[in-house]
Amino acid sequence: MTVPPIPVVKPVPPPAPTAPVPITPVTPAPVPSPTVKPVSPTPIAPVATPSPTLSPVAPTGTLTPVASCCPKAAHFTASSTVSDYFGFDDKTNLVSTVGVDEYWLPPTKAKSLPSNRETRDGAAWMSVEEGKTAKAKINFAGHSGVGCISNVTFKPDTPAHVSVVSSTVAGAVAVFEIKGGTEGECSVEVVCSGKTVGYIHVACYKPQAFRVAICNINQPAPPPPPPPTPPAGAAAPTTPATPPPPALNLPVPAMSLSGYQSFFDEVYKQAVAPITLSSLAGYNLPATPSVLGGNFFDAGNSMGYNHFVANYGSIRAQTDAIHAAVSARDPGYDYYLYLMPMPNLTPPPPETSRLNGYVNTISGTYGIFFNAGPGLTSTAAHEFGHLLGLRHPNDTAGASQYPTHLQATTAAEIRANTSVNDTLNLMGYGHPRPARKALRLKQWKSIPNR
Ligand SMILES: [Zn+2]
Repeated sequence: MTVPPIPVVKPVPPPAPTAPVPITPVTPAPVPSPTVKPVSPTPIAPVATPSPTLSPVAPTGTLTPVASCCPKAAHFTASSTVSDYFGFDDKTNLVSTVGVDEYWLPPTKAKSLPSNRETRDGAAWMSVEEGKTAKAKINFAGHSGVGCISNVTFKPDTPAHVSVVSSTVAGAVAVFEIKGGTEGECSVEVVCSGKTVGYIHVACYKPQAFRVAICNINQPAPPPPPPPTPPAGAAAPTTPATPPPPALNLPVPAMSLSGYQSFFDEVYKQAVAPITLSSLAGYNLPATPSVLGGNFFDAGNSMGYNHFVANYGSIRAQTDAIHAAVSARDPGYDYYLYLMPMPNLTPPPPETSRLNGYVNTISGTYGIFFNAGPGLTSTAAHEFGHLLGLRHPNDTAGASQYPTHLQATTAAEIRANTSVNDTLNLMGYGHPRPARKALRLKQWKSIPNR
């Protein structure tokens, strides 16, 4: 084997130094001072009415955005059309005191992307599904015209998660449309003429789908007892027997599956968790033992909170038995919800003193809700939230699911009339029940498999 010769590098001598060139100072030429000649005003001739047929003239040249016309703040709000967006959360990053320490106000306040997106920076959150689009509205504050707003651009800091599809300006409001990329979080910066005018944070999720069965539970009236047959030759009783208590004849609860489905769609779309509801055939309880007529309800056939607590062990055993029977008859669902009659409806007890539903276990497989007037679908969605692992805003164990300022003011297990700071939250106890729909950022994150 021959060794190749090592090339010899010949050093190049450095160039000879050159003498510095002296700089000759330039004497500026004298500038003549202008003389202003006063102009005498001339009368203005009236302008003739323009001809109705004007040929359009295309503008020429380029327009340069003027920084002073840009909006000073960009406030995001949910679109008025529910189908336009997934989740919109303007509470999690809410500032402490409105008007005092708000991050974006006054509009002249400097704006910068927080290092932690969950800092209470006043920026709203949106959620979006991978590959899907969502819209929000932007109300610009401190701008000088629509023409200027059209100069606004949007810069996602993580384009792999979120891209901006379009933004159209109508009046002083822009419609802002995003598209989800891969799962992850992103902040979109609103920029006008190189100046930051606001942020919105976006969470992009893979969908987590669940199959949920809803089943009516009913207890038919027991058959009437056969009439006693007195033995032959016996004398007729002198005093009539005490009549038995009236049978608990409970009506089969009305159920509109489409009504439940549309409510669940609206609520759980926020967390990018598509729910497929199925209606099972009703399940009739055996007349003996009388499940509903036993100690399931109190003496007034109602389900008050105190009665529930006092008899929880027995009530749980009864609902466990119902679930065992129905899930054996109709297996294959991720979760089961049972609609049970609330017989004492005349007059209906106030919402704040009755139990509208419950689950035996957080993250369990079944929940119970009662056929008790308006708010039925909201209660079903609330109990289902518990099955997904969601807690009340003041459950001690659920502190990680809510920022401190959205938790209720008591650390005790939530009761009726407890003050809940996030009154519109699905998992709170705000009233009226149908208005409780919101799920916040940390609840989106608490969905199973996420
Ligand atoms: Zn609850």
